[in-house]
Amino acid sequence: MTLQQVSAHVHVETAHLGSNNSIIAGADGVALVDTPHKPTDAIAWRTVVDGFGRTRFVVNTDHHPDHTIGNFWMAGEVVSHRGTRDRLLNEAPDHDYLARLFDRIDPEAVPLLAGYRVRVPEVVFSDRLDLHLGDVHLELSFQPGHTANSLIAFLPEDGVVFTGDIVCEAGLPSFQDSRLWDWFDAIEKVASYDFSVLVPGHGEVADRAVLDRYREWGREVVGQVAAAIGRGEDSDQAAAEIRFADNIHVDTEDYVGYPDDLIEMFQRRSVARIYDDLVERPDLATR
Ligand SMILES: [Zn+2]
Repeated sequence: MTLQQVSAHVHVETAHLGSNNSIIAGADGVALVDTPHKPTDAIAWRTVVDGFGRTRFVVNTDHHPDHTIGNFWMAGEVVSHRGTRDRLLNEAPDHDYLARLFDRIDPEAVPLLAGYRVRVPEVVFSDRLDLHLGDVHLELSFQPGHTANSLIAFLPEDGVVFTGDIVCEAGLPSFQDSRLWDWFDAIEKVASYDFSVLVPGHGEVADRAVLDRYREWGREVVGQVAAAIGRGEDSDQAAAEIRFADNIHVDTEDYVGYPDDLIEMFQRRSVARIYDDLVERPDLATR
């Protein structure tokens, strides 16, 4: 546990496998942004969170398992973009997938899966929703980018923006649910906020400077895919040879990461996604 306070009302845990997990503690209760991936982390997290007051809201920045599995163990109402609820209802990983995955990343959690169910958001919105906690409020805005159903959460009183995987400090996440034009637009949208602290989806808490680094990482892999298209390669060839560093799913000193075959699958799907989007919008190669 390496919980750090990043502003008057916000604490963030960056050492879990999966997403960063944030606690916003207001005078009238607590809101969380994203929940732990590992069930054993989620159970321990619930105890930490309860120390800050009554949990009223649990915000999911997208539907991916590393942001939503912990919902099941949290109190309060789960809140997301409406697309996140739809995708959790229709595409959440099944029991067998989770059993195989947890056998690797969280073996103690395998027996817990018998009682687990996917907890979908109870409150959804289309464009905007504000969550009030007394002395502070969280402004949620729909922003397609990392996924078609991503959101940005902003705490204006503290100048803290929570980007989910629209911005990651640790490295590039998967592109498999992104569209490339949204991916770049979403970074510009984050830049338009008046913030001093940026809580990314993965990696260390950052400031405005992370946006330029992150955009450059994206341009680098997009440039490689554009070059492959320029050489006449097809999507399968490009997906077989182009790799970007995955610093999100790999082992760290804090946790055991995903199996190699899943990491490989994320890479191939990401490159194929970028390839298809560049065929549709070649101008994005020089964005
Ligand atoms: Zn993520």
